[in-house]
Amino acid sequence: MDKVDVLVIGGGISGLASAWWLARSGLSVEVWEAGERPGGKIMSTRQDGYLTERAASMVLNFRPEVAALVRGAGLESAKTARLPAAEAHRYLLHRGHLKALPMRLGAMVASPLWSLRGKLRLLAEPFVFSGGRADESVSEFITRRLGREVLEKAMEPFIAGVLAADADQASAAAVLPRLVALERRYGSIAAGVLVNRVLRRRTASTTESFSFGGGMGTLVEALANTPGIRMRTGHIAAELVRGRGGWQATAATPQGQRTLSACHVIVATPAPAAAVLVNSLDSELVELLRGIGYAGVTVVHAGMARDAVGHPLDGSGFLAPKGESATLTGNLWMSTLFPDRAPPGKVLLTSYLGGARAPQVADWDDGRVVDEVLGTLRPLMDLTGDPEMVRVDRHRQALPVYHGAYQARMQAITARLQHIPGLHLEANYRGGVSVRDRLACGHAVANRILGAQRWPSVERQRREETEKPGEKAVYPPGSMGAAIE
Ligand SMILES: Cc1cc2nc3c(=O)[nH]c(=O)nc-3n(C[C@H](O)[C@H](O)[C@H](O)COP(=O)(O)OP(=O)(O)OC[C@H]3O[C@@H](n4cnc5c(N)ncnc54)[C@H](O)[C@@H]3O)c2cc1C
Repeated sequence: MDKVDVLVIGGGISGLASAWWLARSGLSVEVWEAGERPGGKIMSTRQDGYLTERAASMVLNFRPEVAALVRGAGLESAKTARLPAAEAHRYLLHRGHLKALPMRLGAMVASPLWSLRGKLRLLAEPFVFSGGRADESVSEFITRRLGREVLEKAMEPFIAGVLAADADQASAAAVLPRLVALERRYGSIAAGVLVNRVLRRRTASTTESFSFGGGMGTLVEALANTPGIRMRTGHIAAELVRGRGGWQATAATPQGQRTLSACHVIVATPAPAAAVLVNSLDSELVELLRGIGYAGVTVVHAGMARDAVGHPLDGSGFLAPKGESATLTGNLWMSTLFPDRAPPGKVLLTSYLGGARAPQVADWDDGRVVDEVLGTLRPLMDLTGDPEMVRVDRHRQALPVYHGAYQARMQAITARLQHIPGLHLEANYRGGVSVRDRLACGHAVANRILGAQRWPSVERQRREETEKPGEKAVYPPGSMGAAIE
C-alpha cells in the first residue's frame, strides 16, 4: 500500500494551499480531488474572447503569509492589480438608481445617500456603551453600534453580496471578527480604528486586490503543479479509518478502488462531505458538521459592446440591498476591474443572484435567470443592446453561511478534533470564506502538522538547504506562525 506523510482530501483552494505549504517544507503530500480538475469552486473560463470566473474573481490581501505563498509559487509576475478606473467608485442601488458610495467619512457626512439622522447616529458610535449579547447577529451588532442606516445601506448588501448570507442570521463574531474585536478591546469601533491606525505606521502590511493573468485558475494550476504534490483527480474519498500511527483512506477512482496510508489527513471538502467521511469516527463531530448551512449562488456573465452600455462603468460595480432587489445581490464590472476580461470595445458584467436572500433562484432555468439579470440591469445601466456572450454558472452549495451561534459550533468542532490526532478539517466553513483566508488557514494547518512530530524528511531538507543556502526558503516547524497577523 502507498504511504505519504499527508493526504489532503479535496482539491479546492483550501486543500491546495495546505498541500503547498506542506510540500514546500519537505513533506510528501497527495491530494485527492473528486472532480476532473483541481480548483473546486474556482475556475476561469475563456469564452468568445471573454475571461469569466465561476467563483472567486480576486484576492483582497493584507496577510504576509499569503504574499509569501504568491511569491513562493512563482506567481508574482503573473499578478494583475485592479485597474485604476475600478478604484474610482463603488456603487449602491438606492431608490432604483446607482449611487456612488462615499469612501471616506468626510464624503459620507456630505453624501445625500444618508439622512441627517443616520449621519448623527454614525458619528455617535464612540459614545455608545459596549457589550451586546454573545452571538449577536450582524444586524443586531451593526444597528447597536452604528445605527439602522449603516446596516441597510452598507452592511446588509455586503453580507448578502459577498457572503451570500442573511445579516439577520449571520453571526457578527464569525463574519465581522475584526469589528467585534475592536469593540471588545477598545469599547468602540472608531476608537479601535484610530488606535490601530497609529500602531500600523510601524507594523503595516499593505492591502492589495489582485487577480492573475489568465484569472484565478492560474493560482490553482500553479499550486496543483507544485513539485512534491501528487495531484490525483477523479479520486472520490469514501472511507477514512484510523490505524496504528496513522490513517488509511480509500477512494473510488476511474481505475477502481485505491487505498493509501498517511500520517495526517486534511479533509478539505465542504462540511456535508466531511460529515460523511468522519461518520465512523465521532458522532458529535458529524452532527456539528451537518448543522452548517450553505447558500446557493447563480453567476451570470454578460459580455457586450461597450457602446451598448450607457453607464460610465467608472468603478468596481454595485451591491443591491434587499429592499431594492429581491434576487440580484451584486454586479461586478470585470472589464473595468482587470485587463484582458473582454475583447477590445467590449465589456464584461458579472451578476450574482440568490444566496440566502433568494434560494428559489437555484431552481430557475437559464432563460429565466438571464431575463431577471437583464431586466434589472437595463434601466440601471442604460443598456441599449443585448449581450453577445452569456454564461451561467451555478453553485447549489456556494458558500457556508456562518448563521446562528457559529463561533460556539467552531469551538465545539475544534474540541472534538483534539480527540482525533492526525485528522484536520480545513475548508471555507472554518476561518473565513475568502481566498486570502483559505491560503492563510492552509499555512496555519501546515504549521500545526509540521510541529506535531519529528519529520525526518523536513530535517533532511533543512540540512540540504543549510548546505546550499539561498536557493529556497524553508519554513521550519513552529516558525511559520510568526508571520501570522
Ligand atoms: C460565486 C462566488 C464568488 C466568490 N468570489 C470570491 C472573491 O472574489 N474573492 C474571494 O476571496 N473569495 C470568493 N469566493 C469564495 C471562494 O471562492 C471560496 O470560499 C473557495 O474557493 C472555497 O474553497 P474550498 O477549497 O474551501 O472549497 P471548494 O472549492 O468547494 O473545494 C472543495 C473540493 O472538495 C472536493 N470534494 C468533495 N468531496 C470529496 C470527496 N469525497 N473526495 C475528494 N474530493 C472531494 C470537491 O470536488 C471540491 O473540489 C467566492 C465564492 C463564490 C461561490
